Amino acid sequence: MLAGCRVALPRGLRCCQRIFSWVPVVIISLVVLWSYYAYVCELCLVTITNPTEKVAYLLIFHVVFVLFIWTYWKAIFTPPKQPSKKFLLPYAEKERYDLEEHPEAQKQILSEFAKRLPVYSRTGSGAIRFCDTCQVVKPDRCHHCSVCGMCVLKMDHHCPWVNNCIGYSNYKFFLLFLAYAMLYCMYIGCTVFKYFLLYWTVSISKTFYLTLAFRLFVALMFFISLMFLFGYHCWLVSLNRTHTRHFQPSISNGPDKNGFHLGLCRNLEQVFGKKKKLWLIPVFTSLGDGFSFPMRMSCESRNPLLAAENQWEDEMTDDENQTYYETSAITVQVEK
Ligand SMILES: [Zn+2]
Ligand SMILES: [Zn+2]
Repeated sequence: MLAGCRVALPRGLRCCQRIFSWVPVVIISLVVLWSYYAYVCELCLVTITNPTEKVAYLLIFHVVFVLFIWTYWKAIFTPPKQPSKKFLLPYAEKERYDLEEHPEAQKQILSEFAKRLPVYSRTGSGAIRFCDTCQVVKPDRCHHCSVCGMCVLKMDHHCPWVNNCIGYSNYKFFLLFLAYAMLYCMYIGCTVFKYFLLYWTVSISKTFYLTLAFRLFVALMFFISLMFLFGYHCWLVSLNRTHTRHFQPSISNGPDKNGFHLGLCRNLEQVFGKKKKLWLIPVFTSLGDGFSFPMRMSCESRNPLLAAENQWEDEMTDDENQTYYETSAITVQVEK
């Protein structure tokens, strides 16, 4: 009975936590619904009398609105990608690892297993990065999210406003969501501002003036907050860094914060893909597989695991081989 209670309580708490985690998404959705009603119904359909202006405002608004909602939806509902089974510690190694009492010997077991994997990053002490909860050797740029309770590939951060982990699978969607949210606020702010100025030129009621002032204030507050966040992420993308990794320098035979920096164009391609016409569309176009990433030549040349290159080639599937060769090709080009 007691054991049952102990299990039931965390389950209940977990359930409450899961429900509570949707509160920020609900708040954002309500603000968006309110902004839609205020703009379309109150401003465009009631206040604006010129038919051409009305149609133009509504048309542009709906294009921006659809892109904003589409990217928000994708950022929320694209599941984070997890390490594949090949990173999972096999049963025999797991038993040896658990029975071993000396940390150095445990490190050795992980090192032996990791020789078969394309893993370059290390902990601050130079050990293989291992997640005790998921029992996996963490691929490069992978981190464990304590909120989601799992390891996430190229994890950037856990975002409460989308109630999802932002990582390899949805980072592009998150960036586009910030950009289109800014555009949405800016468009509403600019068009409402025109009518806000009418208070001094033509007679409009004070209630209507205060309503416009409030809408303008909300749009401005959201725009400023988003601008800082978007600016920060643009800076991270330009250096091919992630938020998590920015505070924790990447380790590959020594600390190197810019270990994945390939130059601005290639860094952008890593997130947005090679086809520029798809950069602003919320479809997945990021390069690679999320497990391994091209690195600067300086890092790779110093990496002792390259000695095991032939071994990986033997054990990799065709798809993995292709990814690996693409990775190598990029690195060689960068060095030129
Ligand atoms: Zn984990
Ligand atoms: Zn998470």
